[in-house]
Amino acid sequence: MIKKALTIAGSDSGGGAGIQADLKTFQELGVFGMSAVTAVTAQNTLGVHGVFPLTANAVSAQASAIGEDLPPDAVKTGMLFNAEIILAAADSIKNFGWKNVVIDPVMIAKGGSTLLQSEAVKAMIDYLIPLAAVITPNIPEAEAITGITINNEENKREACRIIHNMGASSCLIKGGHEENTEESADLLYDGKEFTALISKRIETRHTHGTGCTFSAALTAELAKGSTIAKAAETAKQFIQAAIEETLVIGEGHGPTNHWA
Ligand code: PLP
Repeated sequence: MIKKALTIAGSDSGGGAGIQADLKTFQELGVFGMSAVTAVTAQNTLGVHGVFPLTANAVSAQASAIGEDLPPDAVKTGMLFNAEIILAAADSIKNFGWKNVVIDPVMIAKGGSTLLQSEAVKAMIDYLIPLAAVITPNIPEAEAITGITINNEENKREACRIIHNMGASSCLIKGGHEENTEESADLLYDGKEFTALISKRIETRHTHGTGCTFSAALTAELAKGSTIAKAAETAKQFIQAAIEETLVIGEGHGPTNHWA
């Protein structure tokens, strides 16, 4: 039977990030995709021009409709925008007992637009992180969650330990934001072991939606029954190939979620 994955995330009208990237990635990896939309963004490759959050009730209603009929094999969260929506997502995950939960703690778009209100970080720590099978922060997000500065391997490990202690089973800190490195080094920690996931850094400005696509690939692989370590490896290869083949459309940052 086909496996099903749910994304609880924001819409990107430009099709490069958010639920659009998630659903395309689920489809590409052979998993049936479903969505609970949290916010609508007016967006293209040049940036985010408007953010229109839905009510928490609208998010809960979508999640309930899915939970009552189409139980997902894995769930990811993306842009949640505010504390009320974080609570709605966390309650749905808890009440339906959903497993294989991937938290992509989306905070700020590459162009600088706020995708999560800063006062909502505490709600994410209190309610959502404890439900995570794996959380996938980039370095600025890991710094916002932990309050520590990450500029070397040791404090990257420390951030993983802190986030694991907040209740996430595994923490995967993405190295894409590091500067002056020839590699993009992600670090996975499962509470016992650290595993480095290394790829060659590709110099390109066409990386819109990389975080969404990566976490969606991870979610699809978990839905199909992979372990977190194997799913992370597959997702890393998947996003590397996607960045190598970015589509140059629009005048700004092109998307990573197209496949020939
Ligand atoms: N828009 C939405 C709805 C998103 O979820 C995200 C990222 O998670 C973005 C935009 C930002 O994409 P990027 O920073 O990769 O350009």
